[in-house]
Amino acid sequence: MSSMPRLFVNSDLVAGGAFALDEGQANYLTRVMRLGIGDAARVFNGRHGEWRAEISKIEGRRAELTPVDQLRQQATSGGAPLTLLFAPVKKSETDFIVEKATELGAARIQPVITERTQTRTVRLDRFQKIALEAAEQTERLDLPEVTDAVSLDAALAALPDGTAVIFCDEAGDEADAPWGGQAGRARPMADVLPDIKGRPAAILIGPEGGFSPAERSHLRARADTRPVGLGPRILRAETAAVAAMTLWQAICGDWRD
Ligand code: SAM
Repeated sequence: MSSMPRLFVNSDLVAGGAFALDEGQANYLTRVMRLGIGDAARVFNGRHGEWRAEISKIEGRRAELTPVDQLRQQATSGGAPLTLLFAPVKKSETDFIVEKATELGAARIQPVITERTQTRTVRLDRFQKIALEAAEQTERLDLPEVTDAVSLDAALAALPDGTAVIFCDEAGDEADAPWGGQAGRARPMADVLPDIKGRPAAILIGPEGGFSPAERSHLRARADTRPVGLGPRILRAETAAVAAMTLWQAICGDWRD
């Protein structure tokens, strides 16, 4: 793995086309990494692949990079896109979900407010920073779209036509039994995924208190929704998110490319 630092930049990337770094990035390369004129970094912008770029100017707190050669083409991921819809949980666990969704290739990360969601406000700028740093580290050539929190209904309504909603449902239908008992439990996720392979997918993960009975029946009544089980144990929301995204990538996603 290259030891060259890797940065996401907004500028166009073309050979010889020098561009200015933002102050934070200039500080990182010249002061933290102690790089100087002629030293190189890898840069990507989500459009032009990945380039080796050399530091071509340093002036006080400012620095410029000049792309020299392209290291990777902008792979247009042929696979179906994955959206993660999740109810925000405690701060560090929610940060974890955003970071792992980025590493696991989510195209879109959307916090949704459900009836039992405890954390109803999110820091979008914080999530976007976490996703950017995770994309730099995980060698992605793009950034996931991270959106502000919306209601569950609004999130479902905004999904592109044809999206399969993978509803991670740990409960059964017996209201007075622990966990809702056995009746009406969802099929194992690995058995459901082959039926929706090739379709855009949205994985839905609930909050600490799970989904309400009304939400469960509303979700299960939707034609585009597939309830799935993630095994015989209650997973924490952040564990369920990683487990579900892992399964999806392994069976439907780009882990087979
Ligand atoms: N309602 C659960 C309870 O009774 O403790 C807690 C919900 S769990 C902490 C948070 C979310 O993770 C759930 O809403 C569901 O989306 C997902 N999840 C956890 N375990 C699961 C399982 N075994 N099968 C399917 N989804 C699961």
